[in-house]
Amino acid sequence: MVDNSESVKRDQNVSRETGPTGSVAQQFADTPIAAAAARASQVLTPGGSGQLPRPASVRIMTVANQKGGVGKTTTAVNIAAGLALHGLRVLVVDLDPQGNASTALGIDHRAPDVASVYELLLGEVTLSEAIQQSPSQDGLFCVPATLDLAGAEIELVSLVARENRLRNALNDEILAEYEIDYVLIDCPPSLGLLTVNAMVAAREVLIPIQCEYYALEGVGQLLRNIELVQAHLNPALHVSTILLTMYDGRTKLADQVADEVRRHFGDKVLSTIIPRSVKVSEAPGYAMTIIEYDPGSRGAMSYLDAARELALRSPAADAAQA
Ligand code: ADP
Ligand code: MG
Repeated sequence: MVDNSESVKRDQNVSRETGPTGSVAQQFADTPIAAAAARASQVLTPGGSGQLPRPASVRIMTVANQKGGVGKTTTAVNIAAGLALHGLRVLVVDLDPQGNASTALGIDHRAPDVASVYELLLGEVTLSEAIQQSPSQDGLFCVPATLDLAGAEIELVSLVARENRLRNALNDEILAEYEIDYVLIDCPPSLGLLTVNAMVAAREVLIPIQCEYYALEGVGQLLRNIELVQAHLNPALHVSTILLTMYDGRTKLADQVADEVRRHFGDKVLSTIIPRSVKVSEAPGYAMTIIEYDPGSRGAMSYLDAARELALRSPAADAAQA
């Protein structure tokens, strides 16, 4: 019951923001199924949720947290889908040997001879050879990961410019040719060479933090690593965005964690919080983003909100810090 009333409340918020179609949502918001249908139609109406501004230059963001299972992949994929739905062009670089981001974006990364991020890092293929259009949505692209990538942490060690491999591979001209606005790099749950490559290639770090016990465990170490990369390899790198994920409104703990993270990181924390939702966890099983799997769900709406917030944050502020 609590869930239903929440979804209606949310629906009214959404309808205020999204204009003409909003009145339909309000009219039918009194039943949960109709409300979900109305939300879905809003989301799927091309341009219905408004186009977002293109950044002045490509925004390259690393989604990092060396803790596993905090929502890095889910966040990379669904924020990318949210941005693409608003007319932006987004490349997801899957840097985790598990290849979960590739799967969620509908890319068959187990096919033989797939040109992946592994070959890209080794310099065996170019970005244009490794990039694939996601069948999910227009404007959504992926450089997939294969299991070969598991060996890359070790293989990279002996290569020239081992920390700069990804940065060098993300060729400006090819990004421009594809008119990419955002690159989101999905990191593995470690602080090894792959994550360092992601931090050297990016200007911004997006840290997803789970609203659970020990949420901040390991974040200190992550921040120290970011500082090291900043000092020695990439002065422009900074934490621009924190996203609270897997929020369960029924627990006091979730609020305590959210408060603590906000105290710690201030306005870097997006005001949108991603709720814990079974739908969000089901979507990748169908090789879909949540926006494709259930566009009217709370999970889809909150990732859309997070994408919108991220895109509307002033890129000028980022430029000033560089
Ligand atoms: P990471 O990439 O940090 O290891 P994932 O994004 O793979 O984390 O998420 C870990 C697990 O939690 C996955 O099974 C995912 O489907 C699930 N999950 C992620 N976000 C949510 C959410 N908001 N609600 C419910 N389950 C989620
Ligand atoms: Mg992951």
